[in-house]
Amino acid sequence: MADETGGSKLDPADWDAFRLEARRLLDAAIDRMARARMLPWKEVGPEARQRLMPPLPQGGQPLTGIVNTLIEDVMPYATGNTHPRFFGWVHGTGLASAFLAEMAASAMNSNCGGRDHGAVYVERAVMDWCRQIFGMAEGSSGVLTTGTSQATLIALVTARHRLTGGTARREGIRTLPPMRVYAAAGAHQCVTKALEAMGHGAAALRTIATEGPAAGMNLERLSATIEEDKRNGDLPLAVVATAGSVDAGAFDRIEELADFCARTGLWLHVDGAFGAWICLADQPWRGLAAGIGRADSIAFDFHKWVGVQYDCGGVLLRDGANHHETFASRPGYLAAQQHGLGGGDPWFCDYGLELSRGFRALKVWTVLQSHGLDAIAASITQNCRQAAYLADRLRNGGHFRVPFAPPSNVCVFGIDRSDMSEEQRSACNRAICERLQLEGTSVFSTTRIGGEVFLRAAIVNHRTTFDDIDLTVAALDRALETLSPDHLNSHADQ
Ligand SMILES: *Cc1c(COP(=O)(O)O)cnc(C)c1O
Repeated sequence: MADETGGSKLDPADWDAFRLEARRLLDAAIDRMARARMLPWKEVGPEARQRLMPPLPQGGQPLTGIVNTLIEDVMPYATGNTHPRFFGWVHGTGLASAFLAEMAASAMNSNCGGRDHGAVYVERAVMDWCRQIFGMAEGSSGVLTTGTSQATLIALVTARHRLTGGTARREGIRTLPPMRVYAAAGAHQCVTKALEAMGHGAAALRTIATEGPAAGMNLERLSATIEEDKRNGDLPLAVVATAGSVDAGAFDRIEELADFCARTGLWLHVDGAFGAWICLADQPWRGLAAGIGRADSIAFDFHKWVGVQYDCGGVLLRDGANHHETFASRPGYLAAQQHGLGGGDPWFCDYGLELSRGFRALKVWTVLQSHGLDAIAASITQNCRQAAYLADRLRNGGHFRVPFAPPSNVCVFGIDRSDMSEEQRSACNRAICERLQLEGTSVFSTTRIGGEVFLRAAIVNHRTTFDDIDLTVAALDRALETLSPDHLNSHADQ
């Protein structure tokens, strides 16, 4: 229903008043970014939860109130990955440059599934830059995704399309032999999820033992497992190389896997969610990604090590024609035009599962143009140095054990008490992790190696300084000293 001014109630009645409120929010948002160092994660208390989950609103409320709510009730409760001592999971930190791009993209509200408009060209530029960064040949194709999970699904479905000559697309997988995918122990869960969603089931994943806790898969085991599966009548679909494992920051030997796949005709997919970008780093780290451009497909994230705001990942496919054939599907209402807005073929909706898509490309485009590859590379190199430095400090401090040298930017460590059982050490490591999160000093997550829970830092944070690592080590030592006797003396009870 139109109001008295003739405008819809869904537009601001007074754009000048809107501008003032928007500026107030803009100031608060910039303050938040500038003061990131002061703003670690904090717990969402019961009252805050209530304010975040109000009753279903029937009527609206004035803009001033909404802006207040955003500033006071929403923005304080961030994940905390903007903080310089956030090392948990693999969370990107976000960049002010991408913030600008998101404002512009939001005002434009482009639908990037296809058609002929600026956003499509921006995404094409971004995908071609990625092709060049990873060294993939021309003729490849790529599309931005929500993240590596979705990119992995697109890559494996494309691999299946090539393998089955389109049968899977037409008839499903009922008539096909069981398919198998090979990945190192420690490969990300998104590979399993993709296989489940594709109808092959989690059992389609063959886990190949690695040559150590921070090493790649054993190629002889890979070869033997594939032979065994073939003898059983199974269909090998793809080898998934991990470029940067979540647990350890470990890399498969991509060059050797590329040789192996070239010899055997198998599809090589690289899960390079964060680690693919190590190809920008200084040596020795850069060498870990050698050969990545030879893959048939690469999945990677912008929202982790490149620092682009969530969510944003991408996938590159070496055979662009095969990629297009796998997903192209344009009923009458989406028919291409020769000229006009309905032109602009090929459309991105023909390269993945989404039809309507946001303008993710603009934040990547803006980040890369405003900082250049060199600054991003320097930050990636610095994070690898910081992981090595953290490992050194912990080893020399005498309280913590570092089970293996960080291969890249992930440092795994735990309390060094050989007099305790694995379970007791695990309990201590978990308690230290929680303590540091709750006090707002540093955020780690945990992972399990063998039977033991370890602390883990994945440093993908451009804001982290070496002083932050020193501060973190001091906080760890303090946490250890103040760990309750229940934790530290539990071995005496036995
Ligand atoms: C984070 C991650 C994924 C999943 O990526 P999303 O962007 O979270 O979907 C896959 N593989 C690895 C190695 C990761 O670190």
